[in-house]
Amino acid sequence: MSECIFCKIGAHQLQAMVVYEDTEILAFRDINPQAPVHILIIPKKHYSSPNDFAEADVALMGKLMLAAKTIARQEKLADRGYRLVMNCGQDGGQSVAHVHLHLIGGRQMSWPPG
Ligand code: 5GP
Ligand code: ZN
Repeated sequence: MSECIFCKIGAHQLQAMVVYEDTEILAFRDINPQAPVHILIIPKKHYSSPNDFAEADVALMGKLMLAAKTIARQEKLADRGYRLVMNCGQDGGQSVAHVHLHLIGGRQMSWPPG
């Protein structure tokens, strides 16, 4: 069995505060939130990083964005705004090697990010 924690969360083998689910995607609250709303949106299928995405995954990549839009509305962030971030690799600050889209909101974001 995979030792990947996000694979396990995606398969409901590890607990998480789930806010959205469909056949391919799960979204849950980050365990260490960086803002009032901090949600991770993952494909249930394992991809280590955005580097693993291929042409065949284009539809799934779009579905991650649509899930983000749906959840932002659910969390009442659609109008005031929010940030979507996908970290990749060491310089990108990726700490969990399973693709995840951060949806962060509920406060004013600064730019550039650290
Ligand atoms: P990254 O740094 O890879 O872009 O983001 C990984 C995120 O996963 C971090 O914000 C971290 O707080 C979150 N995280 C790590 N382990 C767990 C976990 O077991 N459960 C939840 N809900 N979030 C986690
Ligand atoms: Zn995984």
